[in-house]
Amino acid sequence: MNRTFELGIEYAKKLDLQDPLRNFRERFYIREGNIYVDGNSLGLCSKDAEREILLALDDWKGNGIDIWSIKDSKYFYYPARIGAMMATLIGAQANEVTTANSTTVNIHQCAATFYKPTGERYKILMDDLNFPTDRHAVESLVRIKGYDPVDAVKIVASRDGRTLSEDDVISAMSGDVALILLPAVLYRSSQLLDMQRITDEARKRSIIIGWDLCHSIGSVAHDFAKLDADFAVWCTYKYLSGGPGSIAGLYINRKHFDKAPGLAGWFGNVKETQFRLDHRHEHSKDADGWLIGTPPILSMAGVKGALDIYCEAGMKEIREKSLHITAYLMYLIDQRLAEHGYNVGNPRDDNRRGGHVSLEHQEAYKICQALKVRNVTPDFREPDVIRLVPVALYVSYEEMYKLVDILEQIAIKKEHEAFSNVRALVV
Ligand SMILES: *Cc1c(COP(=O)(O)O)cnc(C)c1O
Repeated sequence: MNRTFELGIEYAKKLDLQDPLRNFRERFYIREGNIYVDGNSLGLCSKDAEREILLALDDWKGNGIDIWSIKDSKYFYYPARIGAMMATLIGAQANEVTTANSTTVNIHQCAATFYKPTGERYKILMDDLNFPTDRHAVESLVRIKGYDPVDAVKIVASRDGRTLSEDDVISAMSGDVALILLPAVLYRSSQLLDMQRITDEARKRSIIIGWDLCHSIGSVAHDFAKLDADFAVWCTYKYLSGGPGSIAGLYINRKHFDKAPGLAGWFGNVKETQFRLDHRHEHSKDADGWLIGTPPILSMAGVKGALDIYCEAGMKEIREKSLHITAYLMYLIDQRLAEHGYNVGNPRDDNRRGGHVSLEHQEAYKICQALKVRNVTPDFREPDVIRLVPVALYVSYEEMYKLVDILEQIAIKKEHEAFSNVRALVV
């Protein structure tokens, strides 16, 4: 989409006034004066999440073991109920989504379920830009099955170190590939892959395909009914603001409901007979069948509260603002920061980018430290990327204006030179 912007803080203020999502900001805890552009590492705490967590705590205090049966067994059915809310964000059917484990465990779960290597078809196709845990999980499973990852994990290489070419992914779909796992949005460059094209091509070759939505859920509007992928996994603590280490999401295409879960456990049993404690596992014929153990209710409560906000706002509006405010930020960077060695490293086309701006600079690590002193919370990704995330529900246009001001000042005054390049434990 062609958008035009103006320089000047008055213009930024005008955009805030016109922003249909502006009132949601009050529902989040934003530290006084802090510009928080790290919502894709850890989303901010909302009053809604706090309310649900306190409610769950009260329900535990007041009920003990009966917490599982109060309020129409609300907590017993929590994975499915929260799953149904997340299903609306990705355009899936309610019973195709559940809430379980961490993303990494859900990758293990899906790989264990869908990876059925045969003599001719035994490879898993991935890319070399994905977040490392996806690769670790897949390689360990391949080893369990008796293969050498060097042979059985096929990696599509990036041509430019930033993005993947769909053509390269598709031409890597050879006859020996059994399963594909790819990120919807790349965590460093913010590239949004053409999921439909890749999924369709996988389908034509009868290859199972799953998507990691960690950097798209709550930011990009998906349509899984149309996409028809086999499975998907995501975390809820990034854009979805569910809380530090909050539980993950899992989508299983309904056509697979009859398949046996790779990693079974008693919470995946049919609910009605779970507490008969039968040793024969009868898995629930919906995404809940892929649950493993007892759901962590206190952690899930934060996700439930945050989802109240996301469902109320709607993904269409969230994506619209996200595209607009990131386009505004890129405009300001082009106009004011390019001459100071900053460069926009993410794809610019609306259909090709996720919710963050990938700002590149040779001194990125030091600049991130200088930003923190200036009360800005960005994040750094090796080797030279500052990720800037204006989360649609709580970041304002005026903050983007101020952020660019600060980035310009840091460069002009060389404030970053006071810092070291030695990496911290968590960056
Ligand atoms: C953040 C992220 C994860 C996180 O996995 P956890 O098990 O929740 O720690 C996994 N994959 C990708 C692509 C991510 O961006």
